[in-house]
Amino acid sequence: AAGGSAQAPRQYKLAPQRELRVEVLPDGPLRVRLVAGTAEIFGTELPPEGWVPVPPRSKVAIFTWHGATVELDGVSESEYTSDETPMVIYVNTHAILDARRSRARAAAAQGGVLEASQGPRVIVVGPTDSGKSTLCKMLLSWAAKQGWKPTYVDLDIGQGSITIPGCISATPIEKPIDIVDGIPLEMPLTYFYGHPNPSINPDVYKVLMKELAQTLDKQFSGNSESRAAGMIINTMGWVEGLGYELLLNAIETFEANVVLVLGQEKLWKMLKDAVQSKPNIDVVKLHKSEGVVLRNPKYRQKNRSFRIKEYFYGIANDLAPHSNVVNFSDVSVYKIGSGHQAPRSALPIGAEPVADPTRLVAVNISTDMVHTVLAVPYAKEPDEIISSNVAGFIHVTDVDIQRKKLTYIAPCPGDLPSKLLIASSLTWYEA
Ligand code: ADP
Repeated sequence: AAGGSAQAPRQYKLAPQRELRVEVLPDGPLRVRLVAGTAEIFGTELPPEGWVPVPPRSKVAIFTWHGATVELDGVSESEYTSDETPMVIYVNTHAILDARRSRARAAAAQGGVLEASQGPRVIVVGPTDSGKSTLCKMLLSWAAKQGWKPTYVDLDIGQGSITIPGCISATPIEKPIDIVDGIPLEMPLTYFYGHPNPSINPDVYKVLMKELAQTLDKQFSGNSESRAAGMIINTMGWVEGLGYELLLNAIETFEANVVLVLGQEKLWKMLKDAVQSKPNIDVVKLHKSEGVVLRNPKYRQKNRSFRIKEYFYGIANDLAPHSNVVNFSDVSVYKIGSGHQAPRSALPIGAEPVADPTRLVAVNISTDMVHTVLAVPYAKEPDEIISSNVAGFIHVTDVDIQRKKLTYIAPCPGDLPSKLLIASSLTWYEA
């Protein structure tokens, strides 16, 4: 049944292994309650009692392994039940990963070779809207439910499920992902790329992946539990040409040993052939769920904006960002990669122009920066920027050229932790 107008509270009785698929309107509100049995949303169980708000704009499946009655209250864009899901295959995949984690833990306890104590490093690949992020969530939540603390790595700069788009990030998942709050944001490790598309500067994207992978390796070397729990890596939906090349690069950089390919036979075959010389990488083909909702480029663009807004205002619009003003002279803004080669005329005779894609370029503050996001790196010196993860982001609300002042909002009050800032092409307009 489709909604749209006012709807009375309604109950659905779900047989085992069925799911209720719901699309929530942009301004919600919709809530769900478990009446009988057990059910989960993408790997996280519904509490036995009480209403759970389903976030606006979200598209979810309420799935039951053993049967359940659930009640919906509020308006939805659509809601229907289905008994065709790939959930059994997904949970079997989880079981295999779980066995590998246990083996890694046992190996660590015996103090054997380092290799053996490394749990599964799973990379999830597939075209856009194949359900990659959703599968990652399920695998993470199921693992966390069993007491593991797997690391979630998100390489999708287009949507960005950990922080804002334009970043690659990692964060430990210590409990099943909260249905309302999503991925925990307490301590993500974030590297800033600054654009929603890798083709703008693929070399920088690769360098940042390497930095992230090295930092994680360092953390794992001192933490055998995290090491055994392994990683679940989400990727971009761009699987052709440069996109494909970057996927291969990601597999290598993060030393993935399990590649889960969603919904595309051709990609599975290509990847299988590409890694065939490496016997310790399993490339597994998985069915895509028919429930995955297709999102057009316009929706994606909108969603990017919302993700940026959420960073400053909270998912439930419950945070108040702080507005602040700095003098141009108090900050230095840099851009990574020049994009342009030095003109021949500027070079010594005989020298060939070379573009250094990871070169740092100082940029002047201009009114073009209004509405854009700037990242605040931990770096103390400009040449540390590229290898530095970021502390957070600010959003430029005004640039006064005459008075040489820049106004911005930040999630926390007080001065910026760094004089250095990284420019980006990410924008968000207050509607
Ligand atoms: P990808 O990461 O491959 O682009 P997502 O996992 O983000 O795809 O899925 C696209 C959308 O479909 C998301 O909004 C997700 O919540 C939704 N979705 C995924 N699986 C289901 C399902 N079984 N029923 C309803 N919605 C789903």
